[in-house]
Amino acid sequence: MGRLVMKFGGTSVANIERIRNVARHVKREVDAGHDVAVVVSAMSGKTNELVDWCRDASPLHDAREYDAVVASGEQVTSGLLAIVLQGMGIQARSWQGWQIPIVTSDAHASARILEIDGSEIMNRFADRKEVAVIAGFQGINPQTNRITTLGRGGSDTSAVAIAAAIRADRCDIYTDVDGVYTTDPRVVPKAKRLDKIAFEDMLELASLGAKVLQVRSVELGMVHNMPVFVRSSFDKPEDIDPHGTPPGTLICSEEEIMESHVVTGIAFSKDEAQISLRQIQDKPGVAAAIFGPLADANINVDMIVQNVSEDGKATDLTFTVPASDYNRARDTITSSKDKIGYARLDSATDVSKVSVIGSGMRSHAGVAAKAFKALAERNINIRAITTSEIKFSVLIDAAYTELAVRTLHTLYGLDQA
Ligand code: ASP
Ligand code: MG
Repeated sequence: MGRLVMKFGGTSVANIERIRNVARHVKREVDAGHDVAVVVSAMSGKTNELVDWCRDASPLHDAREYDAVVASGEQVTSGLLAIVLQGMGIQARSWQGWQIPIVTSDAHASARILEIDGSEIMNRFADRKEVAVIAGFQGINPQTNRITTLGRGGSDTSAVAIAAAIRADRCDIYTDVDGVYTTDPRVVPKAKRLDKIAFEDMLELASLGAKVLQVRSVELGMVHNMPVFVRSSFDKPEDIDPHGTPPGTLICSEEEIMESHVVTGIAFSKDEAQISLRQIQDKPGVAAAIFGPLADANINVDMIVQNVSEDGKATDLTFTVPASDYNRARDTITSSKDKIGYARLDSATDVSKVSVIGSGMRSHAGVAAKAFKALAERNINIRAITTSEIKFSVLIDAAYTELAVRTLHTLYGLDQA
């Protein structure tokens, strides 16, 4: 007997029929003797609709009211699932963030979980085996007494945080894919599902473009050493042996992974924009003059490359920002043009970032060099590069994204993984 968190995303609770399917998954684990807390998302498309309503009501809406509106999607599904479970003879009740409470910061629309009191949920496991059906994505800030939300995709984070708070053995994330793949299978049909992946590698994959899990949820899993299992909600509940190992990917600590490849996966993101400043004076303080105002504007700069200008006297500086911040970034730079002192600003939005990830890189040299050669052989021009201990990224023309991902997937032996 154990204790489980089961999290179901929007497509898994898209209608009453699917909510019934979710309830049968829950029943299977309850019948196997486990204590179960379920975390649900809003029905698929619901949160988008709610967000659109807020924008329609006023483009400059109050973020606190935005949270009051968008948190409602999860309230609906938590209640519905509790009703269906009760109808199946399973003790269950719904919990909103404020009822537990899930205490968060007051950063509305992107609040951080600070504390969760799991004691009442655990008492009810002990007293009457009651299933807790918890609305994901939301919490409360006790100082202001207002409902908060955790940012898009935040129910993953709710689930992992609750798992830690109730000391669960594992957090199962049921979703519309059956695990984490070496890369997006829609781009590389030979992509393989990983049986296990280390928190660190998953954190990079998620940060660099893989959309399986909210980044923050992986961070929390790592901090609490909470194993997270990504699995499909579309498998028939009755076909699954609750004591066997179903298909899926276990995200766990590195020590639990026996065979490890140098490269774990390839991620990519087309939401990048490149800005290049030509012929900047090569003197101290210039980088500060450029990146200071961007930081003040809350714009995340990712890749940075500096090289000698064509004229050989000055320097060129290239950096990337999220595509959604591109216009703001350009305006910010242009308005400090006199302070920075550059001749020309070039930019490109049709670029993408392809990243190769693997904690095995720590102990292997030349992993990135191999990629540069392979990309050159395909005539793919690299605009910028960044590296860290366990990953490197290249910025390329967006048109070559798929070719680059496929080339690297084969290069690092992931086709046969
Ligand atoms: N419903 C929220 C969203 O769509 C939270 C989630 O599903 O994780 O972003
Ligand atoms: Mg999600």
